Amino acid sequence: MPLTSAKRILLKLSGEVLMGEQEFGIDPGFVQELAREVKTAKETGLEICLVIGGGNIFRGMAGAAQGMDRAQADYMGMLATVMNALAMQNALEQLGVETRVQSAVQMDQVCEPVIRRRAERHLEKGRVVIFAAGVGAPYFTTDSGAALRAAEMRCDALLKGTSVDGVYDSDPKKNADAKRFETVSYDRVLSDNLKVMDASAVALCRDNDIPIVVFSIREKGNLARVLSGEGVQTIVK
Ligand code: UDP
Repeated sequence: MPLTSAKRILLKLSGEVLMGEQEFGIDPGFVQELAREVKTAKETGLEICLVIGGGNIFRGMAGAAQGMDRAQADYMGMLATVMNALAMQNALEQLGVETRVQSAVQMDQVCEPVIRRRAERHLEKGRVVIFAAGVGAPYFTTDSGAALRAAEMRCDALLKGTSVDGVYDSDPKKNADAKRFETVSYDRVLSDNLKVMDASAVALCRDNDIPIVVFSIREKGNLARVLSGEGVQTIVK
């Protein structure tokens, strides 16, 4: 299905995007800009699920590399994704977009638990549903969380908004001749270890036939351009 006829999408943003120009944490001004992009996309009638990473605050692997227990560090990473989800919820609601946060790690005072049927209802009512805490288990990432939610919410596509404008055959920062794919197969991404998402996330999308659209979210208006078929992106399918 072409992206232009998608009815429901899942947008995955890596935590680093929320830093804006900062080195760490959350830049509320930039989160507002991201929220504006989401609002514009929603105004076209799309149903939107959001998953936000936590890498701008804490990554389990980084903690483990410094001697922490990996699972413990991963739980800290999951908490970081909840903070990012709340920041995005705040920004969206300040723009008048109704949202609900559902966390895979229960946190009753702060947000809802993940309940698929409830999420369906929110989407029907025009709310943006932000899924936090990934899959709710250590040794996973929010890429896997995004693939899982995209599958269970039957999204037409998983859009991965990052700092690069697609998937390249080699690192474009290191190799001036690096070529961007217009489309690339799931299997090529896996066999060539192309930097798109974790292997488990790519495999889950492949098995459920969910195209992954990789694009740069840093440029203003890009989400809308990609959704209207006029953007620069790579489609993994
Ligand atoms: N995490 C986890 N299980 C999950 C999702 C996330 O343990 O299902 C932890 C993991 O430590 C990860 C951190 O949360 O490093 C932040 O998520 P991620 O690295 O995916 O964020 P991103 O790179 O997208 O900003």
